[in-house]
Amino acid sequence: MPATIISGTEIAKQIRADVAKEVAERVQAGKPKPGLATVLVGDDPASHDYVRSKQKACAEVGINSFGYELPASTSQQELESLVKKLNDDPQVNGILVQLPLPKGFDEESVLSSIRLEKDVDGFHPINIGRLAQKGREPLFVPCTPAGCMFMLEKYLPKIEGKNAVVLGRSNIVGMPVALLLIRANATVTICHSKSSDLPGIIRQADILVTAVGRPEMVRGDWIKPGAVIIDVGINHVDDPSRPKGYRVVGDVNFKEAVEVAGAITPVPGGVGPMTIAMLLKSTLTASKMANG
Ligand code: NDP
Repeated sequence: MPATIISGTEIAKQIRADVAKEVAERVQAGKPKPGLATVLVGDDPASHDYVRSKQKACAEVGINSFGYELPASTSQQELESLVKKLNDDPQVNGILVQLPLPKGFDEESVLSSIRLEKDVDGFHPINIGRLAQKGREPLFVPCTPAGCMFMLEKYLPKIEGKNAVVLGRSNIVGMPVALLLIRANATVTICHSKSSDLPGIIRQADILVTAVGRPEMVRGDWIKPGAVIIDVGINHVDDPSRPKGYRVVGDVNFKEAVEVAGAITPVPGGVGPMTIAMLLKSTLTASKMANG
């Protein structure tokens, strides 16, 4: 029997509707609208697209967004001064600095300058540090990893004791996903470009999260029958039959995997929509922390 398709589009739609409802109720009760500041440095077209989608999503659920676009020539000090100004602005509950920053910026220093209570993207070193420590609670968790867990928990309410393999160890996806899985009491193996025998390791996985950025790298015969697969990869492959000349695929060969797995997220329509939905949820949380 083919795998269940875990639709991020549908789950995200529900999250957005819940956020919109709660925002409307709070505004009705006299609370201020939540506000998200987006800070974009440089002219990377993909980053511009991501920020636009985030602003549009905010508008749809009644969250104010305040966009700041700075040239790549901005200095570290100017960028951090802007963050400090936003830290002190009561209309701004969440600050999102779009990553990656252009070359030359000290990313960690910028992320550290965001007030913890406004770190809706969850990349402040203290929030990440707390995520990695037993008994410590981060105020916010990075949005894509949080989206992966939300989908996983919807399909698999008991993660405890399961073998989870995370393919990829980046700061923004692989590593925080692995930390979240450990917190959910899974037994976690993290694979990366220096791992040997990926198929052998992945065949042990009850849960597989892939975040490598390699089109359809994971083949059907690497997958344990019944496994739950969360495919974070967003890869463009040439396809002259498509109007844009390419199509978007994940890190997993979907056609093969769907015949073996128990459940799988599609690409597109899987993790992608969840990232923004979790950002909206975090911004609402930040507004509740600030305004009761
Ligand atoms: P990075 O390039 O930062 O990290 C990739 C990771 O994969 C690294 O840990 C790298 O290992 C590992 N890797 C690369 N090649 C191989 C290989 N052949 N075998 C095993 N491991 C390998 O990517 P990101 O984490 O930023 O993104 C991963 C994917 O997720 C991309 O396709 C990206 O577009 C997508 N993405 C999707 C999001 C969404 O909202 N859906 C959000 C963010 C990312 P090493 O550490 O050894 O270099």
